[in-house]
Amino acid sequence: MLKFYACLIWTLSLGLDVLSQGDMVVPTPSRVVQSKGVHVLPDMLQINDENLPEYSKDVLKQWVTKELKKNLLFNAAGNDITFQRLQNVPADSYTIDILNGIKISYSSDASCFYALQTLFQLVDREAGTVANCFVSDQPKFAWRGMHLDVSRHFYTVDEIKRYLDLMAHYKFNTFHWHLTDDQGWRIEIRKYPKLTQIGSVRAQSLVGHASNNPEVFDGVKEEGYYSQNDIREIVAYANKRYINVVPEIEMPGHASAAIAAYPELNCLDTTVKVVEKWGVFEDVFCTKPQTMQFLKDVLEEVCQLFPSEYIHIGGDEVPKAHWEKCGNCQKTMADHRLKNTHELQSYFIREMDVFLTSRGKKLIGWDEILEGGLSENATVMSWRGTSGGIEAAKKEHFVVMSPTSHCYFDHYQGESAKEPLAIGGYLPLEKVFHFNPIPDALEPYQANYILGAQANLWTEYIANVKHLDYMIFPRLLALSEVVWSTNKCDYEQFIVKLENKQLPFLDEKGVNYSTTHRRTKTEVVEKNGQIKIVAKASNPNWTVEISSKGKPSMAGTGSSFYDLKPTNFPMKELYRVETKDGETVVGVDTVVINNQPFLGKKWTISPEPSEHYSGKGAVSLTDGIIGSRPWNGKEWLGFQTDTITFTYDYGQDGRHNTIELNLLEASSSWIYLPKKIRCTYYKANGKKRGSVEIQAYAERIGFVQKKAKYAKVEIQVIMDDKIPAGQPGEGQKPWFFISEIITLP
Ligand SMILES: [Zn+2]
Repeated sequence: MLKFYACLIWTLSLGLDVLSQGDMVVPTPSRVVQSKGVHVLPDMLQINDENLPEYSKDVLKQWVTKELKKNLLFNAAGNDITFQRLQNVPADSYTIDILNGIKISYSSDASCFYALQTLFQLVDREAGTVANCFVSDQPKFAWRGMHLDVSRHFYTVDEIKRYLDLMAHYKFNTFHWHLTDDQGWRIEIRKYPKLTQIGSVRAQSLVGHASNNPEVFDGVKEEGYYSQNDIREIVAYANKRYINVVPEIEMPGHASAAIAAYPELNCLDTTVKVVEKWGVFEDVFCTKPQTMQFLKDVLEEVCQLFPSEYIHIGGDEVPKAHWEKCGNCQKTMADHRLKNTHELQSYFIREMDVFLTSRGKKLIGWDEILEGGLSENATVMSWRGTSGGIEAAKKEHFVVMSPTSHCYFDHYQGESAKEPLAIGGYLPLEKVFHFNPIPDALEPYQANYILGAQANLWTEYIANVKHLDYMIFPRLLALSEVVWSTNKCDYEQFIVKLENKQLPFLDEKGVNYSTTHRRTKTEVVEKNGQIKIVAKASNPNWTVEISSKGKPSMAGTGSSFYDLKPTNFPMKELYRVETKDGETVVGVDTVVINNQPFLGKKWTISPEPSEHYSGKGAVSLTDGIIGSRPWNGKEWLGFQTDTITFTYDYGQDGRHNTIELNLLEASSSWIYLPKKIRCTYYKANGKKRGSVEIQAYAERIGFVQKKAKYAKVEIQVIMDDKIPAGQPGEGQKPWFFISEIITLP
């Protein structure tokens, strides 16, 4: 026992030692062994470039002269930095040995580049020193991706290059370039010039959410496309940095911009314009031979422009309404003996799969390509959770994990009311950091089919680089830990790395990162039927204070607690939570508690909420916190079932005159008010006392039951079975979201 104890202490002290020695590298290398002392870099670095790949040589020269502000000389006898290429070692692995000089060993040109990125982070540039240490490192996943939607908003060649530079520094190797969508076609196709002449220009854009009523437009033209020369330039720029560019040409859905340019691609004889709002639209590519040939012609040019083995064909969110009505599509179904339009979609994808395979490429698509049967060579990008990825891996198809739950960087990262408008969702830094791309449901051999993961950035609400930076950073760094590191540090240490080393680096690069992670993690929790505020600083070196008008302030290092006594405070109370780094206030949060007699009491919920939107369980409904709008995940319970029942059993006669429900309506996120709500009251003997049924017409809705006494109350929520046509998620089950049930005497 004693031995174990001593061993534990040794491990802990080593950990702290490593940290204090300035190990601030992101993503965390597989192994870092620190030794005593530092190596002082001379003013003239003599570098042996015998085994130094050409691009790494450029990168090193740039860094030494521009960032380190020293001189360098490449010569065969130099020994300040030496390089060695190793055979028979894992792909993209490298080591850095620092002791009286720097020795870098690597397995590939790419890993030499990665070794340099690590070295740049190890060096204390101000002091001109680097701590003696030994680093060995290799990537966890082969697909380390970042995505960018340039259709909804256009980004210039230089802006893309800057994005690639930042990705490369954090060892990402895949850029998924979403080039076409309803709102803009952004890639020049020589055979079809109208795609960019007409399809790349949108007259104006919707202001605010897709669900806003009435709709308001900005009247500002959004246009731009990449010429084939631009594309070649970007691909070459990326490849130099060991980033593969995977182009996405969306089909058969998200096709409005193409159809606006060439109306004959459509099923119906209607005019379509480049779409000015956000959502899912019914104008999809027809499956007639002319349209199929058009798409193969497009892919032919795409295959020539992009050396990538993978070509992304989209395949998501395809409304089938036009296919159902179209004589040509009905003929395709008859000719190929397809039973329904799901099989028609599979047929469509299979045609593209065969075409791409014939060109030596591999098809990758969103997980909808599983519906109606997965094409033989297809790789699946799992976005609607991980279940599509699990299904594909079990069928021995390759998978890239990109679930909305952990990888959608267009979602809010902090309390939505304080953040720039986003589509919805809630994806804080910590959740990205804790993502595991390999689901437990897979056997080890199936897990080999998971190529890796990527984050997606859809840009409906992101119109410029400043905002783009804000959504991507620092979440990109957390994802780099997920996809690269075989020995991820813990989250607290990650925050220390951010604050001490990485954010100052991003400052130098002019990156407008979010500081949402600095906010104190405040939670309202229930313990023995009592509600408490618990506040915890994100950085272990910071302190937290909670105060409330007329009440003493509570302070603590790292974390702080505040007990709430329901009887002692008014209906609404504001708590101030302040985080300090020494004397500097790092962040101020407020927590508003809505009092009620049921505060902290638990309703019984059936069925359980979805695992992705389960809040704190039942106590979320009575924790005094009304979910914020635009919504984010944490204050809400979400359900995707037909009926949800909430019951509260007094055990004896009770009475509350009003019961108020706080619900959410956000059609762009597939969240709807229920079709109806039924509230039933029961007597102590179990007999029905009475019931009320109402239409849910608003997000805040109440029942009044003035005179009755009852022992049990049951609230049944009944949902529509399908999301209506023309809405995002058409035909899917709608979600029901609730944040609070307030009972008033
Ligand atoms: Zn058709």
